[in-house]
Amino acid sequence: MAANVFDLFKIGIGPSSSHTVGPMRAALFFASELEREGLLSQCQRIKSELFGSLGATGKGHGSDLAVLMGFCGEAPDTVDPDCIQPKLTEIRESKKLNILGQHIVNFTESTDLILHKRKSLSFHPNGMRFEAFDDEGNLLSQSVYFSVGGGFVVNENAIVGEDPLKEAEEDLPYPFKTGKELLAICAEQQMSISDVMLENEAVYRPEQETRAGLLEIWQVMKDCVKRGTTQEGILPGGMKVKRRAAKMREALIERPEKSMQDPLTVLDWVNLYALAVNEENAAGGRVVTAPTNGAAGIVPAVLHYYKRFVSDANDDGVVRFLLTAGAIGLLFKENASISGAEVGCQGEVGSACAMAAGALCEVLGGNPMQVENAAEIGIEHNLGLTCDPVGGLVQVPCIERNAMGAIKAVNAARISLRGDGKHFVSLDEAIKTMKDTGKDMKEKYKETSRGGLAINVIEVPVNIVEC
Ligand code: SF4
Repeated sequence: MAANVFDLFKIGIGPSSSHTVGPMRAALFFASELEREGLLSQCQRIKSELFGSLGATGKGHGSDLAVLMGFCGEAPDTVDPDCIQPKLTEIRESKKLNILGQHIVNFTESTDLILHKRKSLSFHPNGMRFEAFDDEGNLLSQSVYFSVGGGFVVNENAIVGEDPLKEAEEDLPYPFKTGKELLAICAEQQMSISDVMLENEAVYRPEQETRAGLLEIWQVMKDCVKRGTTQEGILPGGMKVKRRAAKMREALIERPEKSMQDPLTVLDWVNLYALAVNEENAAGGRVVTAPTNGAAGIVPAVLHYYKRFVSDANDDGVVRFLLTAGAIGLLFKENASISGAEVGCQGEVGSACAMAAGALCEVLGGNPMQVENAAEIGIEHNLGLTCDPVGGLVQVPCIERNAMGAIKAVNAARISLRGDGKHFVSLDEAIKTMKDTGKDMKEKYKETSRGGLAINVIEVPVNIVEC
């Protein structure tokens, strides 16, 4: 398995890993390829076409602005979310696009950025075609990309922009593709799951860089929670959904004596952390895919729980938490899917719940079998979960669903830690069941906002459909 922990935890912007993060990365990659091939100076026009779900719902997800930002050289992990709208206004008013900040071309939005509402490319629902032309209209370059969830971008042959990692796949000291293989390595080597991941990650970079990178991910998660707990008002998109996290935090810190009377107050904090992240995501703020934007609140919420409420929690525990969550996420990505468009919300919130459950179990002292058990419990009780966002926005039920996923993850870790790691359904079997269930799930429950809550809660505009 070539993907590494930083593929699952990507710093990006909301509201969608597939519709915002992926398209921005794809456009940046295309522009960078033009530069690498020496074609940038000849380019006089770039035409973009978005297909399938990206075309049908890209406006609401910000796919259009993500593509333009990518051409301008912005990356999801570094772009300042507050600068996007002013930049976009400048592009629209000047009708100029400054490719990579180096080369200005004319830009006519109606002909140069086309969102096809009813056309799809066969390979995947989220397709993009970019074309560059010279001043006589001759085609200089053309590429087709697919945004397959979690911010991953592929063409029909490979993950885009990840070639060095693919080469490193064969060199992994402890390669694994299934939970069974991972447990066998842990047993043979007397290693924890985070140990195995840390050794494998050493193929890509020195251990200290891995640790520093994961602590940076944690810092972005903390910043996201902090911002999410201070912002008030209405979320964008037209449904007038109120942000709740700031008020909830105020209530929690104003009445500390309450928490002494009610030991379950700790759950209020876990809820708060998850709501804060997903409100930030819905508002287009800075988030970490974990493994996607729609499910971005679960891992940070449970990690905040560990750091704040578990005695002896420390930075090494944070690193091990993220490594273990990463190992579990890779199993889902390799053997099923982390895309709501492909398997429903079980692939996003379910995967995130399993990741957080297993990770918490390890940092609370669970052995690898208990970790695998916790992750299995985390997905087992999300099986069949449909993707049915009301109004097509990543708000209802998504924001609360993350809070529920986080609480389930804490409970899954606790159930597992009370046992000896032996259990009935393996994680591999649960992941396969998730994949099969996703295959059998009607399309309307996967990415269309044409089923479930999305049609029973009426009189809201339908804008977007997946996260
Ligand atoms: S319901 Fe759909 S859009 Fe919402 S979190 Fe789940 S997968 Fe994402």
